[in-house]
Amino acid sequence: MHVTTQGVVLRSVNYKESDQILTVLTQELGKLTVSARASRKKGGGVSAAAQMLVWSEMTLYEYNQRWGLKEAVTNWEFRGVREDLDKFALASYFSEVTDQLTPEQFPVPEWLALLLNALYALEKLDRPLELIKAVFEMRAMCLSGYEPLIDGCAVCGGVPDQPQFHLREGVLHCKACAKELASGSSLPLCPASIAALNHIVHGSSKRLYSFRLGQTAQKRLSDVCEAFLLTQLERGFSTLDFYKQITAKPVLT
Ligand SMILES: [Zn+2]
Repeated sequence: MHVTTQGVVLRSVNYKESDQILTVLTQELGKLTVSARASRKKGGGVSAAAQMLVWSEMTLYEYNQRWGLKEAVTNWEFRGVREDLDKFALASYFSEVTDQLTPEQFPVPEWLALLLNALYALEKLDRPLELIKAVFEMRAMCLSGYEPLIDGCAVCGGVPDQPQFHLREGVLHCKACAKELASGSSLPLCPASIAALNHIVHGSSKRLYSFRLGQTAQKRLSDVCEAFLLTQLERGFSTLDFYKQITAKPVLT
């Protein structure tokens, strides 16, 4: 059986002399494991499409309940992302999170849109990487059923005084109201970073990156989005460690 679908490569592992095993997030069939024969041979028909983060129209064939890549036409290579180490490292983290949170063989078009929009933002929009990262992380949590409650203080219901975000509960609260919540860490927010969170959680997926923040507010937003994801998923990501390692500012002495 042959199927034609649009797909982006989340992961590729070399196999045998010139083959690859790909993890592909497709539009119609969801996430699939696909073997790509001879994809590491130069000039091979599928070699361009078998690279990480490349978005292609793929013709797949099924054999013994496995998928193989027969042909591919590249739609978008995200070359501007793959040729910039910081952006590539961040995009690799987005891929790993997507791979972790999406089911096998079940269509999740909203995940595909989130990932492709983030890659597009990295390539084309002149936005800080930390902001794109924060947006991706928080929307990924919303898609996975961890949508935070940020309409007011979760304890007293009011506009939060000295607002904080509780990482385990996923709620906004006043600093003084923290004692009413389960134990666990909270991080500080401010009106600007709360407004940005609202935009990310409740805004249209098409305008996700259309906001600006001052440096302090952006740092608060970034800290909350990353820590929320890591707290809820109870794991780390080697791609995130690598991104942090290469983007760390040298300490001046
Ligand atoms: Zn309160």
